[in-house]
Amino acid sequence: MRPKQFPRLTAPVKTLAGVGPGTEKKLAQLGITTIRDLLFHLPYRYIDRTAITPLGGLAPGRDFLIQGTIDLTQIKYGKRRSLLCRISDGSGALTLRFFHFSQTQQAGLAEGSVIRCWGQVRPGPGGLEMVHPEYQRLGDDGRNNLEQTLTPVYPATEGLTQARLRKLTGQALDSLAGGTAGPEELIPQDLVNSLGLPSLPEALLLVHRPPPDADLEALKRGEHPSQKRLVFEELLAHQLSLRVVRQQIQSFRAPPLTRTAHNVVNEFISRLPFKLTRAQIRVWHDIRRDLHASMPMLRLIQGDVGSGKTVVAALAALHALDAGFQVALMAPTELLAEQHYQNLKQWLSDLDIPITRLHGKLKNAERGKVRERIASDQPLIAVGTHALFQEKIVFGKLGLVIIDEQHRFGVHQRKALVDKGMEKNYHPHQLIMTATPIPRTLAMSIYAELDVSVIDELPPGRAPVATSVLSNQRRDELIERISAVRRAGHQVYWVCTLIEESDVLQCQTATDTHAYLSGILPDFNIGLIHGRLKNSEKQRVMQDFKAGRIDMLVSTTVIEVGVDVPNASLMVIENAERFGLAQLHQLRGRVGRGAKKSNCILLYQPPLNDFAQARLEVMRSTSDGFIIAEKDLELRGPGDLLGTRQTGLPEMRVANLVRDAKLIPQVRTAATVMLDKHPDKINALLRRWLASRLDYGKV
Ligand code: ADP
Ligand code: MG
Repeated sequence: MRPKQFPRLTAPVKTLAGVGPGTEKKLAQLGITTIRDLLFHLPYRYIDRTAITPLGGLAPGRDFLIQGTIDLTQIKYGKRRSLLCRISDGSGALTLRFFHFSQTQQAGLAEGSVIRCWGQVRPGPGGLEMVHPEYQRLGDDGRNNLEQTLTPVYPATEGLTQARLRKLTGQALDSLAGGTAGPEELIPQDLVNSLGLPSLPEALLLVHRPPPDADLEALKRGEHPSQKRLVFEELLAHQLSLRVVRQQIQSFRAPPLTRTAHNVVNEFISRLPFKLTRAQIRVWHDIRRDLHASMPMLRLIQGDVGSGKTVVAALAALHALDAGFQVALMAPTELLAEQHYQNLKQWLSDLDIPITRLHGKLKNAERGKVRERIASDQPLIAVGTHALFQEKIVFGKLGLVIIDEQHRFGVHQRKALVDKGMEKNYHPHQLIMTATPIPRTLAMSIYAELDVSVIDELPPGRAPVATSVLSNQRRDELIERISAVRRAGHQVYWVCTLIEESDVLQCQTATDTHAYLSGILPDFNIGLIHGRLKNSEKQRVMQDFKAGRIDMLVSTTVIEVGVDVPNASLMVIENAERFGLAQLHQLRGRVGRGAKKSNCILLYQPPLNDFAQARLEVMRSTSDGFIIAEKDLELRGPGDLLGTRQTGLPEMRVANLVRDAKLIPQVRTAATVMLDKHPDKINALLRRWLASRLDYGKV
């Protein structure tokens, strides 16, 4: 007899038993087209169906495996027709509720049968219940043994159940067990050995189907060596995807920007109304060194809010101008672009530096003129939003691209932007500024293509912002404080925050608050700014605030990043408990920018749970952005901190940047080894882990 033939790993999924066009399509939605893809469709968690919980021991809000005898099955006609099934086991009782059900299903739930269910327990009108649990009737033959081990849970999609995915991955695993050559080992053997991790087929088998004697606790935590093996590989793929982009960029020539006789940079420094901090000088020297090279600079400036990143960026811009090149400065919003433009104009006013502003409101003729200037090889600084630069703007002699607040952009968007300098066969230098301080290991993975310089010192004389936490019900006490601030000649921000609500609602809330405060403080000049104002109106309000014509500015979170009004010394943030710490830190960074003693009041809506209290306490007790970022990571996970969608930070399948941070240094080393010694394996590794999610560029 011939042995059973198992399909090859590259075979399409439709070669598996029971996969028709419908299933094929659903699998494709999950990025699965071949049997190999199924092997790498990994469980993202496990559920424990190894033990039955007595009905008397259930608690709402969690998943349980339960078993009981059906006492009563009936259709209930209420607001919604539903099938209710009452079961008991001697220790207690539970209701199963089905909104969709067939006659057969109803008949199958006959009184007296014993059924086993899996689902979430929740409170219902007649006690605890499960809505649409997974269930099976138990036969008399004792075939329905309990699971011996943890049950994997796979990323699924509508119409493709867990049970189905378990079956399909099971078929793929059978191929492995049946002797089909396993997936290629792409990590060099000596590396795998030195890490002491299991082989790839061994790891895949274990995570898909953990044997009963596996360390279940480690598996639940995601720390089993077999999981680590796959996590390592996934992190390595991500690391390499960025390092490959870096290699591509650095294979181009950049114009070496060398100093000319003018030395505008030194003149600028000598005219500044303050002395640069040591950290600013150090970072500037890093940048200057890069700019002199004929390889494109790829540098990130990380610095806490208020650490003075903009001045350092201005130095870089002047250096490029001085060398005869053009500079593009991109900001995420019109408001910030305008502010950069104004700041630069003011700083550079005596230096006769051509600076131009691109914005959406330019008339056609004007826009044509600006474009023409940019297309000439005249040195200039062009400031605008990143959206504007995406349009067909051609630079004549672009030497440096500065991108502010990069965490809003994302690696691939940025690459597309910078590729604009390529027309002349050279690649501009890149400088990225981010105000989101993140822990080192996280920076090493998500900014792997960049060199990082940290401004780790605030300008002297900054009094830290004193932060207090106050119940919303004591809002009135604030009014006296606000008046005192104005008597001292300072200004106030009042930030209205709403999350997960529409833009319209946000603006409505800000508008209502503005009316409310104007009623209580009639002799105040109170401004209002929100996302639905026209850009020109926003700019007017900001200018009025900056010039001191407005005492208090009521705003939505549009003022989150970058806005700089040193005379503002009090910030009130409403609903602070609903915000991420990193975002609160950004907001709070709008005050304490001058030498004045500044305050931040975090208003919350009582009652405050322990978790929220702990978070606000972090804000109260420290103003160090790096510490706050660490805590935020602990409390929320990396995707939230950075806004996964905004960073272009891909979601990981098995890795977790917080849990697996310890691996990052080894991953970096491994990536270097792969780039140097095994470049032929890289493409396959990227395809394995990133193909469906990330455009990693042509390798
Ligand atoms: P951020 O890093 O948040 O972008 P900015 O560059 O906006 O910070 O600087 C914050 C404020 O500090 C600005 O008003 C800026 O003019 C001022 N500033 C920058 N560097 C110094 C310094 N070395 N000494 C004093 N003030 C400084
Ligand atoms: Mg800034």
